[in-house]
Order: sequence, then structure tokens, then C-alpha cells
Amino acid sequence: MSTTAGNVIRCRAAVAWEAGKPLVIEEVEVAPPQAMEVRLKILYTSLCHTDVYFWEAKGQNPMFPRIYGHEAGGIVESVGEGVTDLQPGDHVLPVFTGECKECDHCKSEESNMCRLLRINTDRGVMIGDGQSRFSINGKPIYHFVGTSTFSEYTVCHVGSVAKINPLAPLDKVCVLSCGISTGLGATLNVAKPPKGSTVAIFGLGAVGLAAAEGARIAGASRIIGVDLNSNRFDEAKKFGVTEFINPKDYAKPIQEVLAEMTNGGVDRSVECTGNVTAMISAFECVHDGWGVAVLVGVPHKDAEFKTHPMNLLNERTLKGTFFGNYKPRSDLPSVVEKYMNKELEVEKFITHSVPFSEINKAFDLMLKGEGIRCIINMEG
Ligand code: NAD
Ligand code: ZN
Repeated sequence: MSTTAGNVIRCRAAVAWEAGKPLVIEEVEVAPPQAMEVRLKILYTSLCHTDVYFWEAKGQNPMFPRIYGHEAGGIVESVGEGVTDLQPGDHVLPVFTGECKECDHCKSEESNMCRLLRINTDRGVMIGDGQSRFSINGKPIYHFVGTSTFSEYTVCHVGSVAKINPLAPLDKVCVLSCGISTGLGATLNVAKPPKGSTVAIFGLGAVGLAAAEGARIAGASRIIGVDLNSNRFDEAKKFGVTEFINPKDYAKPIQEVLAEMTNGGVDRSVECTGNVTAMISAFECVHDGWGVAVLVGVPHKDAEFKTHPMNLLNERTLKGTFFGNYKPRSDLPSVVEKYMNKELEVEKFITHSVPFSEINKAFDLMLKGEGIRCIINMEG
């Protein structure tokens, strides 16, 4: 039993007080885990675009003050009542969408949309008692997607935490807890490109590049990257992307350009931008008769997807996915094993790193569209 178990822990957390304003490193109180909860010591976290959308709160509901962060790796510090799957010292990855292992979704082979713990960006409190475990001088600070990893310690529901191989380096595999698994799974588990097929990837950030990696692993022969930022194209070559197009270079819709390049349309497309125009293009660019489009990007809260129904009647399929259809507790440990067995390279996604005290630099990099993932070392 650690000396901290059962006690409030005071530690540093990066608090977002206001939309779009730099995070402030504060001393926060982190309450002990309650029933079916665990308290984690976060060692490394990284920034995914979803954190940025909710922090900017331009196209999402505002909720402040809040502790963001959901791509991370850490160690269990203590466990609450009823927790039998995890114990102090376990190496874990927290995940923004959970797995209770008991509901109809968790029991279905097809779904990872757990009824209890599926992603809910508008909840800022724990499911068990509707309270926050974070406070500053007694004033509660909201949680984010059940993870809030921009804190040295955080409390999660046990169902939102995957136990992984303790030999896996957390400074690397932390990126598997969101972006990389999401993109990889979107292609391998949802789009399922046949060998020799042509795949279009919209958005070449970490999620899109992981989707491209999935296409390469599946044996796609052409992987066409689409991004508004041409600076992404050089990096994307390392991920097997064979051709690039920038919608800004064309006067006509990019789906028409893609159809011309591919004799009528791509076999599969994976959208990883969050932009609804790109989502529509990603659907309309797939070949009639067999094409499948997969939406991954998180849209503006008021976005509407508009297409002519004939595009569907002509035997195109539209799908969407969270976390690449992986069940976080059941499947994520095996994605980590893929890295340990050298079947999956993670290092090439990590282009920057900063100490926790400089977390705002990671936001600047993402806003400027520079690099892929920036690892934030909680010890710095
Ligand atoms: P990122 O910012 O690193 O990458 C996004 C890329 O999309 C950028 O390179 C940007 O230039 C490009 N882009 C933006 N608008 C575009 C457009 N209209 N056409 C072409 N390219 C465009 O972000 P990321 O961290 O890789 O995340 C990508 C998306 O996936 C985000 O929307 C994020 O919220 C979402 N996401 C979803 C899940 C899920 O489970 N469904 C999980 C993680 C992230
Ligand atoms: Zn469930």
C-alpha cells in the first residue's frame, strides 16, 4: 500500500481557465478514487487535435475550468472499492472511450461503443457520483473524456484504463492510447482495404498517417494523401503515402479530381480532418459498386453531412468509427504488443517533446500544423 493511497494528492496540473487562453500550471488537489475508479500517476501525455477543439471551444460546447488530455501513459497509484482488474504499479494507458465489459455493446463483437463509458465530451464529472475529483482550494475543476491526463495524477473509471505490458516504454506507447490506434484501426478494422486497392486518406496528422500505415500493412497499392497543408507531404512519404493532392491547387471539388485519377473513384477512403467538407468529399470520392468511406474526424457541433442519396444507392458505403473500433481494454494491449514485436513503428510519429512546464508549446505546434506528435514529459 502506498503512503498516498486514500489521501488527497496535491500535484501540478495544466488548467484551462478560459477558451483558447494558454493553460496555467496550478497546484490541484486530486481526491482518492471512489468505487470502480483508479488513480493514475501520468508519466507522459501528448496532444491530439480533439483536445485543441474543446480548448478553443469554437465549434464545441465550452466547459471551464477544465483539465484536458487523453493520449497518455502512466502507472496505477491506488484503486477504489470493487476494482479487481488493476492494482498499484500496473502500467496503463487511459482511453477516452471505455469498456465496461458487461453491456450489450461490450458483449457484441461488432461494437466498441460501451453503453456506460462511451466518449462523452460534454460530461466533466465522474460517472459514479457526478462529482469532480479535481479541485483548487475546494473549487471543482472539470474532467475531460474521463481521462484528464494534463495532470500529474488523475482519476479514471477502471473501464477507461487498459493494462499493458510493463516492458513497453511509456514515452513511446502513450501515443497508442488515442491517435495512432484510431487511425490504424479505422483502416484495418473498418475500411478493410483489399490487397492491391487504392486508398485515399484525408488529413495527414497523426491519425491520418496511422490510417495510411494501416493501408500499407493491408497491402494497398496506391495511397493518396489529401491535405490543405502541403508541408505535410514530405513527412507522409515515410508512412507509405504514394501520391499527394492539395484541394487548394484545384478549382473543382477534390472528389472529382480523385475520380479522374483513379478511373472512377478510390476503393476506400478514410477521413481524418474533422472538416465536414472533407467528410463529404471522402464519401463522394469512393468508387460506386464497392467503395467504402470511413469518417474519423470530430466534427463541429452544428455540422451537417449533405450528399445526394443516389450516391448511396449506387452502392457506396459510409461508415464512422471511434478509436478505430478497438475495444480499449480487450484490444489495446495487443496493439502495444505489435509495437513490442516491431510490427508497428511508433517512433516516426513522435516529432517533438517538451517538459510539462512548457505544455503550451505543444498547442502552438499543433495550431501551426508542425510535426506529428509532441510528447509532454510530466517530470519536466
Ligand atoms: P491534426 O491536426 O494533426 O491533423 C489534421 C490534418 O487535417 C492537418 O494536417 C490539416 O491540415 C488537415 N486538414 C484540415 N482540414 C482539411 C480539409 N478540409 N481537407 C484536407 N485536409 C484538411 O489532427 P489529428 O490529431 O491527426 O486528428 C485528426 C482528426 O481526428 C481530428 O478531427 C480529431 O479530433 C479526430 N480524432 C478522432 C478520433 C476518433 O476516435 N474518431 C480519435 C482521435 C482523433
Ligand atoms: Zn460496456
